Amino acid sequence: MMTPASTRNPGMMQLVFELRKNNVADDVIDIMERTPRELFVPQAFQDRAFENAALPIGHHQTISQPLVVAIMTEALELTDRCKVLEIGTGSGYQAAILAPMCRRVYTIERHRMLQDEAIKRFAQLRIHNITTRCGDGSKGWPEQAPFDRIIVTAAAIDIPPVLVDQLAIGGIMVVPIGDDQHDQRLVKVVRTDDGTEISDLGWVRFVPFVEGEVLP
Ligand code: SAH
Repeated sequence: MMTPASTRNPGMMQLVFELRKNNVADDVIDIMERTPRELFVPQAFQDRAFENAALPIGHHQTISQPLVVAIMTEALELTDRCKVLEIGTGSGYQAAILAPMCRRVYTIERHRMLQDEAIKRFAQLRIHNITTRCGDGSKGWPEQAPFDRIIVTAAAIDIPPVLVDQLAIGGIMVVPIGDDQHDQRLVKVVRTDDGTEISDLGWVRFVPFVEGEVLP
């Protein structure tokens, strides 16, 4: 077991305090405390790795804000039996937080360089239950569907119907929805026998979900 980062790092202590203040569940806080976010952040932003802020990771993309990672993780109501699909691997941080809480994470990223860097981080942290793919997440991962949980970490214009189709009955999806660059609503979708139940989890800010070709 890794030493909690808060005992080594005052920045992490402050972040844990902020997560607690926002009523994040203990199991999610424990995993975030043990996951070195500095490893997922470029060299130039090392000193800001423990800020409760999204940070640039290159290619005009960002690592999500820790509180939003926590809220999305909690909203998924994970169990160790869950098969999870993530769209938008980015730095790999969100996937690294999900991995200890579920059976397996399948994560798709359209930027090959980001995917390559994330794969190295998973290996370095000895996380072995994440499977990655470089591709267009708007198509989901049909060969592995259905998924018990789906998390989209880029803002879509609407709830992607292809992803709802790949969600198991009783499954949960969280996805930021909106066409505004700066403000979107985080939406929770539960797939039922005859449709979906949708609830609103509040304002978030994500980079856009882009359909189409894979990038180097
Ligand atoms: N989960 C990430 C945050 C990623 S930011 C983290 O924890 O760091 C959103 C990511 O979604 C970007 O890397 C972007 O390239 C990717 N993305 C956007 N649209 C996509 C699509 N259609 N398919 C796959 N990845 C996509």
